[in-house]
Amino acid sequence: MAGRPRTVRSPLFRKILVAAALLVSAMGGVSDLLMSRYTQESEEAAVRRSLEAAARVLAREAGTKGPEALGEWARQTDALLDARVTVVARNGSVLAESRRQPESMENHAHRPEIEAALRRGLGVAKRHSSSVNMDFLYVAMPARLGTGEPVILRVAAPLETIESAVRANRWRILRATLLLAFAVLVGAYFFTRSLTRRIHRIQQAAEDLAEGRFSENPPLLDKGKDELGALARSLHRMAGNLLEMVELVRAESARRDAILSSMREGVLAVDQSLRITFCNEAFLQAVAAKEAPAEGTPLEQVSPDPALLDPLWQVLERGETVRSKVSFPATPGRSYELYAKPLELNRQKGALAILHDVTEIERLERVRRDFVANVSHELRTPLTAIRGYAETLLDGAIDDAEHNRRFLEVIRSNAIRLTNIASDLLVLSELEQHRPAQEPVERVPLQPVIESAVRTVESAARIRQIAIHAPEVDLAVRGLRFRLEQALVNLVDNAVKFSPPGSEVRIECNRTEDGMVEIHVIDNGIGIPEADLPRIFERFYRVDKARSREAGGTGLGLSIVKHIAELYGGSVRVKSRLGEGSTFTLCFPAA
Ligand code: ADP
Repeated sequence: MAGRPRTVRSPLFRKILVAAALLVSAMGGVSDLLMSRYTQESEEAAVRRSLEAAARVLAREAGTKGPEALGEWARQTDALLDARVTVVARNGSVLAESRRQPESMENHAHRPEIEAALRRGLGVAKRHSSSVNMDFLYVAMPARLGTGEPVILRVAAPLETIESAVRANRWRILRATLLLAFAVLVGAYFFTRSLTRRIHRIQQAAEDLAEGRFSENPPLLDKGKDELGALARSLHRMAGNLLEMVELVRAESARRDAILSSMREGVLAVDQSLRITFCNEAFLQAVAAKEAPAEGTPLEQVSPDPALLDPLWQVLERGETVRSKVSFPATPGRSYELYAKPLELNRQKGALAILHDVTEIERLERVRRDFVANVSHELRTPLTAIRGYAETLLDGAIDDAEHNRRFLEVIRSNAIRLTNIASDLLVLSELEQHRPAQEPVERVPLQPVIESAVRTVESAARIRQIAIHAPEVDLAVRGLRFRLEQALVNLVDNAVKFSPPGSEVRIECNRTEDGMVEIHVIDNGIGIPEADLPRIFERFYRVDKARSREAGGTGLGLSIVKHIAELYGGSVRVKSRLGEGSTFTLCFPAA
């Protein structure tokens, strides 16, 4: 921003000063010219009038003088009038002269005033007299001497007084002009100072606007009623409008940024040379860029992958919309659907690309396929067994009293297995349909839940001679009682299933510092190999398929437990050592 303006240095001040100086000089010059001429003319007219009057009086007086007395008379008259007096004969010879000897003077017949006097009775001439080096005004008039001789009487006065009068006048004009010039200078200074200060204020405000510095409530800079005031008012109005527009644009761009950055789809806009004009966070994550590139960065520097560059070139060159599946080496394991289309911004061609992360969709699709395959596989085994034994029975074994009962038991156990699978699948699909927020939640005291779970597996445990210890607890959790029971039964049932006869299973509960309640189901059973631990919560995953099947397992129990825990804001985890036993821990928010 410019500092306070220096009036003296202001070009405006200089211009006003030069204009004023020219005006003052022109005025001085013109008045000098007019005044000098006027003074000269009026002074000359006055001299001429008095010379004419004197000439007339002297012409009458000359009638009393003879030729011999002319010289003396001329000198005396000169002394009285302070005017040179000359008497000239009609032929031009000088008869008497007040300031010189007549004999030394040349013939005056062709002096203009003498000629005019002879012709018209009065001759007036202005001439420079080289003899006395002065301008003289000559007035000549015919007269007669006492002797009756006709002569020309000439009276002359120097114009020296006129010149000095003109000079004096000129001085006066010069002084007045200088005084005026000084007054104009001072006036121009104050006028320009006020003007430049006003202009400077307006200029600063305009510069602020140009550089995007907007104040909330800009004051009206100039309240003058002239053009500058009008300009300031326009600027003030414009600043208001601009501020409004800028606010609007800011809000719009903030909204756009918020939308784009919260989008899960990667968004990228490039210009026609494939330089980035915009990209959002999701795009940077997709190409594993470390930091947001500056606008104008070549896309190649951010992601040199042809899977991205080629479709964009294609869009730019052909103006077509392109769809393709891409994956980037920088983010292995993730796949994207790329949708690229031409983009025209500010009459500049470019392209817009949207990256839609389809990794999860693909995973779910894979899970769904696997699930269908698994279900089919799981169903096929018992169905094949049922069909096989049924056919054997039909083929005659029904009459084989030794085996037919055993065959029917196999058919029944497989039918039970099918029922178990079906009911577990039903539970799973039911759980998957519920969103955590929709699930009804109540305060569930743990003691009855544990007692009920123990009762459910009691008979199986007795058969296997396994003791279940569950000390009394006075804790409650937030969830749904029958779901909680379902989860606990699955864990305790597993503990019993995978423990050797004679061992024991313990259920322990405690409250954690972060407001959760943990329920531990601890067994000293066969344990789980470390490699299988991360996968046991998957559907149909079983460490030892034959053993699980033998024990009536479906491979869905832990998957159901995990679903239930997550549905109520809890979790499940396992700690196990092969051959030593396992501890499954259910975690629910305390109530
Ligand atoms: P299943 O119907 O086979 O029990 P689950 O989903 O309940 O299916 O369990 C998955 C697998 O995890 C089981 O097949 C078993 O191999 C292992 N498992 C679960 N609980 C235990 C446990 N307490 N001790 C050892 N292995 C277990």
